[in-house]
Amino acid sequence: MIPYGRQTISEADIEAVVKVLRSDYLTQGPVVKFFEETVAEKCSATFGVAVNSATSALHIACRALDLSKGDWLWTSPNTFVASSNCGLYCGARVDFVDIEAETGNMDVLELADKLIQAEKDNCLPKIVIPVHFSGQPCDMAEIYSLAKRYGFAIIEDASHAIGARYQDDPTGACTYSDITIFSFHPVKVVTSGEGGMALTNNEVLAEKMALLRSHGITKDASLMTGESHGPWHYQQIELGYNYRMSDIHAALGLSQLQRLESFVEQRHGIASYYDKALAELPVHLPLRKNDRYSSLHLYVMQLAGETNAINHGKVFESLRESGIGVNLHYIPVHTQPWYAKMGFVWGDFPIAENYYRRAISLPIFPDLSRDQQDMVINTLQKILQ
Ligand SMILES: *Cc1c(COP(=O)(O)O)cnc(C)c1O
Repeated sequence: MIPYGRQTISEADIEAVVKVLRSDYLTQGPVVKFFEETVAEKCSATFGVAVNSATSALHIACRALDLSKGDWLWTSPNTFVASSNCGLYCGARVDFVDIEAETGNMDVLELADKLIQAEKDNCLPKIVIPVHFSGQPCDMAEIYSLAKRYGFAIIEDASHAIGARYQDDPTGACTYSDITIFSFHPVKVVTSGEGGMALTNNEVLAEKMALLRSHGITKDASLMTGESHGPWHYQQIELGYNYRMSDIHAALGLSQLQRLESFVEQRHGIASYYDKALAELPVHLPLRKNDRYSSLHLYVMQLAGETNAINHGKVFESLRESGIGVNLHYIPVHTQPWYAKMGFVWGDFPIAENYYRRAISLPIFPDLSRDQQDMVINTLQKILQ
């Protein structure tokens, strides 16, 4: 089965991991710090806080921004559940903003309308999390200007989007946000096995996230109360977690990062080939906007015309039966049973639901061969023509 995404591991990656295994520190050593500095520099951010997953990064980002009970967090329904669960972890309430059908990203016009209503109802969000779906950045300048007007913070869920660019800056620069988070899960653009990172230009937020990542424990005398008990002394000053990344994971991530640009270029080569080969089929191909550069984590085509669950399901199954491991991004989060319990129903976010009924994620990853890609294309032609 050709998967929809997979990691690309080199001998250099393997050596980098082995080197850590032979060293003194498997965790809390120097490699994590170096990984943080390298990602931050590549993405033009000041601070990077490495953690064991993007899910953890989202959680500590929300905590650092003081999200708590009674607050609202808004995100896109066309995402992985982690983008909204982070709000629930903090006891906040969660709501969604529908998407643009062409990109799968949060629709800023919908956001603007929803903010007008929320201001009237006195329930403006404290945090909005735009998700850069498939690796294409959202309309960040517009979202940022709404943030200034309505006073919410922005966390970019860039789990798909390391290596992307928006206007003049790499994703992660936080030009239009407070915090940006990345995922290093193996299906994503670069991997550390499991792992994530939060980037920010705000030192206070960076320090809070670093504290929360490791139990809320500090050895910094200036943050402690009372007299030091001695050189062994530490204090827990926040309720934090063990969300640390190990040096083993960081070594893999760091080694992978050196190939970020070529990974993304290879993804563009694959996407352009699909664009040309599928142009005549009854499908909508993913729109890439001009003022930004996608990292192309996903290539999602949508079945065109009249579609229903049966023919969508049939196309999907035929592809799987032909050995093509297509996937579906995403089941709208508000339709998950956990969210239905909060009162969300089918029909709440019709564009995301319609997207779900048409979307199919085709294989895209650097090692996908031209022969494999031709096989995907030929199979699609047979099924759809
Ligand atoms: C993968 C993903 C996450 C979670 O990443 P983990 O590193 O697996 O925790 C969050 N948001 C989106 C949009 C993702 O695709």
